[in-house]
Amino acid sequence: MTFGDGRSASALARAVRAGETSATTAVDAAFGSIRHDEGNGLHAFLSLREEAALEEAAAVDRRIAAGDGRGLRLAGVPVAVKDNIAVSGGPTTCGSKLLEPYVSPYDATAIARLREAGAVVVGKTNLDEFAMGSSTENSAFGPTRHPEDPSRVPGGSSGGSAAAVAAGCVPLALGSETGGSVRQPAAFCGIVGVKPTYGRVSRYGLVAFGSSLDQIGTLGANVEDAAALLQVVAGSDPHDATSRPEPVADYATGLDDWDPAGTRIGWPAEYFGEGLEPPIRAACEAARDRLSAAGAEIVEVSLPHAPYGIAVYYTVAIAEASSNLARYDGVRYGHRASADDLASMYLRTRAAFGAELKRRIMLGTYVLSAGYYEAFYGQGTAVRARIRGDFERAFADVDALLTPTTPTPAFSIGEKADDPLAMYLNDIYTVSANLAGVPAVSLPWGRTPPRDGRPALPIGIQLQGPDLSERRLFEIARFLERESPAGAEHG
Ligand code: GLN
Repeated sequence: MTFGDGRSASALARAVRAGETSATTAVDAAFGSIRHDEGNGLHAFLSLREEAALEEAAAVDRRIAAGDGRGLRLAGVPVAVKDNIAVSGGPTTCGSKLLEPYVSPYDATAIARLREAGAVVVGKTNLDEFAMGSSTENSAFGPTRHPEDPSRVPGGSSGGSAAAVAAGCVPLALGSETGGSVRQPAAFCGIVGVKPTYGRVSRYGLVAFGSSLDQIGTLGANVEDAAALLQVVAGSDPHDATSRPEPVADYATGLDDWDPAGTRIGWPAEYFGEGLEPPIRAACEAARDRLSAAGAEIVEVSLPHAPYGIAVYYTVAIAEASSNLARYDGVRYGHRASADDLASMYLRTRAAFGAELKRRIMLGTYVLSAGYYEAFYGQGTAVRARIRGDFERAFADVDALLTPTTPTPAFSIGEKADDPLAMYLNDIYTVSANLAGVPAVSLPWGRTPPRDGRPALPIGIQLQGPDLSERRLFEIARFLERESPAGAEHG
């Protein structure tokens, strides 16, 4: 389903600005569909801000009535926000008992920019605890369901945001990416997910997981919407020293004018090996053939260090996580367990982390410890540099890479919950972009055929490009979106 009458978020904003509809009507409609889907057990949201959102919508409507609505790119557009991004005055739980009582004292930069654009945050969405997971099953508040099949996961960790968009509750959502948490749930739910260049969106107000990997990303029902949302939140920020200073390109206008002729599309053999389900391979091949038929040149490339991506990611990410999570000690933020002395207060407070968090904190502390640091973390960062080098070599020759987003479609709730390695392997095609810092887009491209009682499920294909090539990725993605007959089965 898509939000409302199916028009794009930009078209909705145009209609609100023109007075054909109002922000209040759009936000009301969002709460109507949220109530409906949450009532059916979707569990995409952890909190709603109905009163605040309706007040903000009324303020947008007043501005427009006063003739002051011109700069409001997303006027009246309801947006859902992953609950690890701070929205002033409300909770930011990170899906964790540790932050359950915490109230955000300020807006993340991305949220401040949404407000300036006239968008309205309707609520905070479910996620794997502190964004660690690939299914949203690690949320301390229970899993989100796949909008098409409640026995399946929506992907993760931004599963609530992806499900909210795919179910039609909202046209747009923000998520966060450390190793694929926007692209993977977008692929599972059949929507568009964007992981921008590292530093393209300020991390100010995004709760840290792996700081050298983290990036806020956008989710939308179509390419133009996901691009329009990135347009609003991207840009340099004095609050984030790693934000990129370059001006933000025009991401969303005129995408239809792009001509594939002469574009060089890389096809990396390493992404089409063992473990990839045949219908997903077939979907990528079909997309490749459409590009080629329209005049793009398909070039076989090699990313020889891609097979080390998972090992490197799950070394570097957990090392940074163990350090970032040390601040949840019961003193500074959120939950504090009662105890007679300080040491037991720390212990009891931190016991409230879920099992996956404890695993990562322990392993992360281990790979950073004296005597093991060079063997694990040092080695991990060295291989990370080679993964980045692979991309640089490939992008000297091609404009973008076309690959699957995930090796399988949405899996069942519980299927991988007791097998962390199987869960980690689901990220095999997404982690490299985070390790290298390059931008990537996942877009829906047909479905798997039904099989052994499994329904037809959305397939996501992925485009990755050099630093700051978001505009080009959106052009290619928009071309493919037009070429993709909705619901076509591959395999
Ligand atoms: N699934 C990956 C992990 O568990 C990526 C998470 C993310 O991108 N936030 O770490």
